[in-house]
Amino acid sequence: MTTYPMLDEDRQIQERARRFVDEELIPHEVEAEMSGGRIAEGLRERHHRLAIELGLYAMNMPKELGGRGMTTFQQALVSEQIGRVTNALGWCVHTPPAWAPKVVTPEQMERWIEPTVRGQRHECYAITEPEAGSDVDAIVSTARREGDDYVLNGLKWHVTSFNTADYVFFQAKIDGGPNAGAHAMFFVDKDTPGVRLVREPAYTHTYPDSHAIVSFEDVRVPAANLVGREGDGMDFTYAWFRYERLMIAARCCGAAERLIEEATAFAKERVQFGAPIIAFQAIAHMLADSVTELWAARLMTYELAKNVDRGIDVKIQHAQCSMAKLYASEMANRVADRAVQIFGGRGYMRENVAERFWREVRVDRIWEGTSEIQRTIVADQLAKRGARALAG
Ligand SMILES: Cc1cc2nc3c(=O)[nH]c(=O)nc-3n(C[C@H](O)[C@H](O)[C@H](O)COP(=O)(O)OP(=O)(O)OC[C@H]3O[C@@H](n4cnc5c(N)ncnc54)[C@H](O)[C@@H]3O)c2cc1C
Repeated sequence: MTTYPMLDEDRQIQERARRFVDEELIPHEVEAEMSGGRIAEGLRERHHRLAIELGLYAMNMPKELGGRGMTTFQQALVSEQIGRVTNALGWCVHTPPAWAPKVVTPEQMERWIEPTVRGQRHECYAITEPEAGSDVDAIVSTARREGDDYVLNGLKWHVTSFNTADYVFFQAKIDGGPNAGAHAMFFVDKDTPGVRLVREPAYTHTYPDSHAIVSFEDVRVPAANLVGREGDGMDFTYAWFRYERLMIAARCCGAAERLIEEATAFAKERVQFGAPIIAFQAIAHMLADSVTELWAARLMTYELAKNVDRGIDVKIQHAQCSMAKLYASEMANRVADRAVQIFGGRGYMRENVAERFWREVRVDRIWEGTSEIQRTIVADQLAKRGARALAG
């Protein structure tokens, strides 16, 4: 456990999440790795049920909707523990879109959000396109109003969890009318005619969730499926980016802690040239650098979470979420690389935790905005507000 000061309630949540990860999830990592990310069906259901019973599911959603209403700091503590397990086994602790309750209609709430909070429905996000990645504004998907409906068209890439979701948040630009060109977000049930799975490419990690290429061809949805108003689409995406960037930072801290613990234990017991390899300065210094960088990333992540709870200026939050995600994801990648090196040949075997994390944390420098894009956001805010506002 960390020595960072926190309330008893916070520590209890942290310990509950840690026990769940240690006792229920980590033991199935190798099985998942060896079977394309899959584990026995009964087990997945068990994890889902336990996540709900332990009060970890929908931790970010308000209590009145059936969520856990945790503080951002508490959520960061849980996410950090979830980051300690590979193969997306921790995804059973699901966080539905926390921006939604404030903007959806009562009908949307009942049909999509409440069942998602209960763990009965599952969402996925279709924003990225073949020609629009970092530059989200370059999307060419369209939503054309026709009477009481919208007709949606577009091709989406990297749609995470399309195989396990039953509805999609689809982002498009309004085609025609007074808001032509404005971004808009829609609820689209996966079984709506015109929603077509193009293919599910293989990715570097071994996860049960796919990252699908999905085509939307003249998909007709009622106007009641529009989230908020025409023109609001990017606001929701930014809110989600901020949240996810903070939670990625937390998960990267968890990954780094596990890697450092495993690599240190190995370095203490592995003997070469008559001495445990931790006695060699080259190995010891890799571990020392790793734990030092973990501490920095963790303090940054915790302080950011507390700043969000304190409700600091949203522009500063935006910059600090980028700073935390940038630093923690780059840190976790350095730590994973060192851990592979410390394990030597064993570190290159898929049954080894360092090998799996080494592949898995790579995407944390890419998704929810690449490291380059995080730097651009930070530099932009630095120029506007100064160093004291961002790091004071
Ligand atoms: C596993 C995985 C899951 C994903 N899940 C989803 C999902 O569920 N839904 C979804 O909509 N998207 C998803 N994404 C997409 C993800 O958000 C994008 O991949 C990411 O934003 C980068 O976009 P891109 O891949 O098109 O790269 P590009 O934008 O083409 O970037 C290519 C390179 O150019 C650099 N670059 C681009 N612009 C600049 C600039 N201005 N300055 C400096 N460098 C720049 C980038 O940093 C990168 O190094 C997922 C991606 C992955 C890999």
